[in-house]
Amino acid sequence: MKRFVVMFVAFVFVAGLCGTLLAQDRLDTIKKRGALIAGVKDSTPGFGFVDEKTREIVGYDVDFVRAIANKLGVKLQLKPVTSASRMPQLVEGNIDIIAATMTKTAERAKQIDFSYTYFFTGQKFIVKKGTVKSLADLDGKRIGTAKGSTSEQNAAKALPKATILSFDDYPQALLALQQGKVFAVTTDESILANLLGKAPNKEQYEIPDIQISDEPYGLGIKKGEKGLVDFVNKTLLEMEKSGEAKKIFDKWFGPKSPTPLQRGSFKITAGK
Ligand code: GLU
Repeated sequence: MKRFVVMFVAFVFVAGLCGTLLAQDRLDTIKKRGALIAGVKDSTPGFGFVDEKTREIVGYDVDFVRAIANKLGVKLQLKPVTSASRMPQLVEGNIDIIAATMTKTAERAKQIDFSYTYFFTGQKFIVKKGTVKSLADLDGKRIGTAKGSTSEQNAAKALPKATILSFDDYPQALLALQQGKVFAVTTDESILANLLGKAPNKEQYEIPDIQISDEPYGLGIKKGEKGLVDFVNKTLLEMEKSGEAKKIFDKWFGPKSPTPLQRGSFKITAGK
């Protein structure tokens, strides 16, 4: 009987070991494949958008995943995602990482894991100049935003009488504003500033100083991929320390960019 128990325990141990060895984690898969597949936006100016000259997707989010791919010694492969499609694409395993203006929320963290915060902003509105002095001026109005965003949830909460119209992306919401189909567009200030910066008749619009939420961005990784999360977090901290993270910020949003933003005291910090 004793011998049987010993053999059984040994069998369970060996089987467990084989299982662990066979079940490759995502980090191994990426290295073997020789490419990191990142889900990025392709129509969010400043973060992930198509460069008119090169026809390549570029932006703040793209530079962060490029730095991670370089650190891994693999190529970077980009897959366009929308606010609504990014989590399903990750959960289904079609992408390794989300780098798509994605806010870390407790609700999303039930389904996926997040890196440390690598960008920080807050939700505001674009409106026709002089039409909005306070939040009350927006209630009961038609407000445009993107499907699957925290922006649509926050707006519904802050403006219970408003009609929220959700589009596939923010340029479509801006177009609706320009066509008079919505009264305001709402999402993160960082996105609004860049969107407006590129708009042809931008002098007719403004972003009033009305903020309804904080939006810390994290890189999204499938649940249970501790190796990849640790690697990404380690790389983010190194990028902060070396000054690369600030350099990427300045490249897209610094004083010389068309729409400067404040990095303020923001720093990529362990645990946050
Ligand atoms: N950061 C917000 C979010 O994660 C709004 C921007 C977006 O739709 O990506 O939902």
